[in-house]
Amino acid sequence: MTAEIISGTQIRETILAELKDEVKQMQTKYGKVPGLVTILVGENPASISYVTLKIRTAESLGFYEVQDNQPADIAEANLLALIEKYNKDPKIHGILVQLPLPKHIDEKKVLNAINPNKDVDGFHPVNVGRLMIGGSEVLYPPCTPAGIQELIVRSGTETSGAEVVVVGRSNIVGKPIAVMMAQKGPGANSTVTIVHTRTKDLASHCKRADILIVAAGVPDLVKPEWIKPGATVIDVGVNRVGMTDKGKAILKGDVDYDKAKEIAGKITPVPGGVGPMTITMLMKNTVRSAWFHFGGK
Ligand code: NAD
Repeated sequence: MTAEIISGTQIRETILAELKDEVKQMQTKYGKVPGLVTILVGENPASISYVTLKIRTAESLGFYEVQDNQPADIAEANLLALIEKYNKDPKIHGILVQLPLPKHIDEKKVLNAINPNKDVDGFHPVNVGRLMIGGSEVLYPPCTPAGIQELIVRSGTETSGAEVVVVGRSNIVGKPIAVMMAQKGPGANSTVTIVHTRTKDLASHCKRADILIVAAGVPDLVKPEWIKPGATVIDVGVNRVGMTDKGKAILKGDVDYDKAKEIAGKITPVPGGVGPMTITMLMKNTVRSAWFHFGGK
């Protein structure tokens, strides 16, 4: 049996259409739209391309989008003052500081300076705490884990009582998605195991998984024989394994996709699976923030 492919590219389009509708409803109700500021420090080419994609997506949804580019030698105090300006700006609901920042700037200090109620990336310790509490406390789930959960739910995978195994324990993917899937509530209620570099017998844990979420950053780490027949496999890994003749990066996930798709029930491809979901969820968080600041739907 060949697995059903969970297309992040298609699910992204559905969610973006839903968000566009919400922006229209917001305009009707409040006469206002969500506001997002993207702060880019310096001219790192990868950062420029990420920010450009975020700006284009925000504009396509009808957001008020402010692009604030700063020179690489901006003083930390000036960057903190800039964030404070947007913290107070009533037209801005989401503040996004593109990482990495130049070495002379303390990244943690900068991220912690963002008003947690405008932290649409969900990285502020207050939002990490809210995620841990769960339920209505959660304002902004971090974008990649939120995208993973959308893929699981929208592909029709049952999560309640499911055995979920998460490979990886990073702060941006592994830990938050494990917490989210274990919470009480729709799209969750799972029994979760986190495995990592110190885990004994990775394979035996993976074999138990009804839902296997892999975020290790190791190409082909998960072998086809580790997959339970019919399982839903979410491959978060993005590994550059070479270059095409035209100089384009060849990407591979953490799962041996070609063989795994003959065993899994549902599987995400790389690219085109989790990847397109991250920016989509950033947009969703910005819409959520705008509703929150305007006083509700
Ligand atoms: P990370 O390096 O911070 O964490 C990797 C985790 O995997 C660690 O906790 C480590 O213990 C575990 N791990 C590594 N090798 C392992 C092994 N051999 N066996 C068991 N566990 C192992 O990485 P991250 O930031 O969580 O990202 C993971 C992958 O997901 C990367 O390939 C990254 O590029 C990708 N990623 C994709 C998106 C997206 O598509 N939007 C977003 C974030 C990360």
